[in-house]
Order: sequence, then C-alpha cells, then structure tokens
Amino acid sequence: MINCPKCASETLVETPVLGKIPLDVCPGCSGILFDKGELEALLKQSQGGGSADLDLINARAEGLVCPRCRHKMSHGGLVNPLLLVDKCPSCGASWLDARELELLKKLLGLTGGAAEAKAERPAAVPAGPQGPDVKTVLIKLVSAVVAILGLIGVSYELYLYLSPAEAVSRAPSAGLAIVSVLFFAGGVLALNWGKGKGW
Ligand SMILES: [Zn+2]
Ligand SMILES: [Zn+2]
Repeated sequence: MINCPKCASETLVETPVLGKIPLDVCPGCSGILFDKGELEALLKQSQGGGSADLDLINARAEGLVCPRCRHKMSHGGLVNPLLLVDKCPSCGASWLDARELELLKKLLGLTGGAAEAKAERPAAVPAGPQGPDVKTVLIKLVSAVVAILGLIGVSYELYLYLSPAEAVSRAPSAGLAIVSVLFFAGGVLALNWGKGKGW
C-alpha cells in the first residue's frame, strides 16, 4: 500500500493510464506515481531515443515526500521544462500531478483518452444496512458476555444462599448479588439497545 504524497488519506491504486501500463494512481487527486525509469523511458521513446537529458530542469526542493522511500523529492521539468514532475533523488520514482497528464500525452504523441487518470477506490467493507459492522458486533458480544457473567453471578449467589451453610465454602454476599444483577440487566439492556434502528 502506497499513500498519496498529496492526500494523506488516499492509497494509490494500480490503474492502466497510458495504454496498457499499470501505474499507481491516486483516487483522490488523480496524481500518478512512476517507478524509477518508467517515465523517462516513455519520454525517451517519444523523443526518438538517444540523449534526452533526464535530470530535472530548473529543479528545486519542494515539500513533497517520496511515497516509496520517504525522501524529499525535487520539483522540476522532465525532458521538457513545461512537464513539471516531482522526482525522488533517492529511489528515482516520479510523481506526476493530474494536470500534467495532458501535457505528458502531448509529448508522447498520444491523442484521445481521458484527460484525467481515473482510479477507482478499492471496494470498502460494506457498512450500514447491508450488515452489522464490526463495532456493532463487538458491542453485542461484550453485552452478551456481561449478561452471562451477571447470570452466573446471580445463580452462584442464589446457590450459596439456598444451600445449607455447612455445605458451601462461604456465605452469600449481598454486594456480589447486586453487582451480578446489575451486570445481567446492563448486558441485556445493551443487547437490545438500538433495536428498531436497523441494527
Ligand atoms: Zn492524491
Ligand atoms: Zn524515493
């Protein structure tokens, strides 16, 4: 899982963007992450191969942090001074903003296609009416355990109370009995909480 360098909450999704090459695309900002050499190779091809300068043009240190290796990336033109990318000096990954994709396509001689890379977020765990979520199940489970503990406590105190004093190890405790009853009542109440609200 690679996080988007721009949107902290988004993880990049492998999406075919330029033809058939699957690239890591952010579902939020549509930025694209290229692995070391991928973007350079594409551009070199389009420039007829040879001696394209792969150092960034007018590079300057920018705030973006490399999503692969956490190094600070530098911002500058790649091959063309207008194609502004963020490039990691450590692992060689390049980050392309969504608005740079059109320009990249022009440089590559590609026409048509979507103006933006569209990445679908991976299907999230269904929530709401489709089924109880983890939290609800957990609350129910804890409620059930508390209710059962309360029931056991009540039964035990009742057993102590009803048995002849010499047959049991200790006298029944009113305090424990009350706590057990409260546990049982609380557990049952929590189990039924929210009924009718679609739980
Ligand atoms: Zn993003
Ligand atoms: Zn890096």
